Amino acid sequence: SAKRDKTRFMVYTQEDDLERQEQLRLAQELPQAIESDELRLHYQPMVRMKDREVIGVEALVRWQHPDKGMLFPDSFIPLAENSGSIEALTRWVLKAAIEQGSRWLSKGTRLYVSVNISALILHNPVFPDTVAKLLSKTGFPADLLKLEITESAIISDVVRASEVVISLHDMGVRVSIDDFGTGYTSLAYLRKLPVDEIKIDKSFVLNMNTVADDAVIVRTLLDLARNLDLSVVAEGIEDINLWNSLKELGCDIGQGYYMSRPIDVEAFSEWLSDQPW
Ligand code: C2E
Ligand code: CA
Ligand code: CA
Ligand code: CA
Repeated sequence: SAKRDKTRFMVYTQEDDLERQEQLRLAQELPQAIESDELRLHYQPMVRMKDREVIGVEALVRWQHPDKGMLFPDSFIPLAENSGSIEALTRWVLKAAIEQGSRWLSKGTRLYVSVNISALILHNPVFPDTVAKLLSKTGFPADLLKLEITESAIISDVVRASEVVISLHDMGVRVSIDDFGTGYTSLAYLRKLPVDEIKIDKSFVLNMNTVADDAVIVRTLLDLARNLDLSVVAEGIEDINLWNSLKELGCDIGQGYYMSRPIDVEAFSEWLSDQPW
């Protein structure tokens, strides 16, 4: 009935309101949280498929919230992007990732660290300078830093994004296209930009052994990358069957729960010393 619908509508908007207040509060807390080191990085191994060698890690941010416990990035990265905190957050993440990479390197563990970069950051012409300063302060080799950017970030402002990507590339930093296949790329940009790698989105990988169309997409993306001389990472490798299929298709690097979930640095060190996984 109309009345019931109305009630439901009211309940819905109330919840909606609470949700909005909650988000607003989180967004307001974020700058202080960054300053007081409530952010954490978890690391997920990136494995060279032909010989199972661990060659790098993706650094994934978490927020250890004093009341709410560990928050995952999907619940606060969009807030950071909309409230102006994304710059401070990215600087925190980059610094922490580079410092960790340096610690590993000084102990003889040579791993590249891969960091996710939001569109807004990619459009900021001073960003390459920020990266250069962080690298020179730590002495971390530029070619052990990889930045993951999305197709949509490039397409939304091609001119600015290109300038930033070119400067980063000139510094020796690696650039990877994240969530590849989910946007409307634009092979033209891929060819023009000095990109080193594409990451096939897990939404295609997860079901490639059961959904024929997904298998076709993965194979097509692999062919495309090979023809453009790009290295390919497949994310979302959750089991041995996916590992085997992708290895057979010649995928270069694999990432996923089958090898390890993203874990904190202590757990990662343990995982690493338990080789071969
Ligand atoms: P992403 O860059 O696509 O990262 C991969 C996500 O897939 C991660 O989620 C990871 O935990 C998850 N994943 C890895 N292996 C598997 C698997 O085998 N199966 C499944 N189902 N999932 C897997 P997470 O850590 O929750 O991160 C979510 C997103 O948040 C990331 O997606 C990235 O876009 C963003 N993000 C994370 N850290 C940062 C950051 O420091 N800065 C920015 N701007 N964004 C970040
Ligand atoms: Ca990523
Ligand atoms: Ca992805
Ligand atoms: Ca993503």
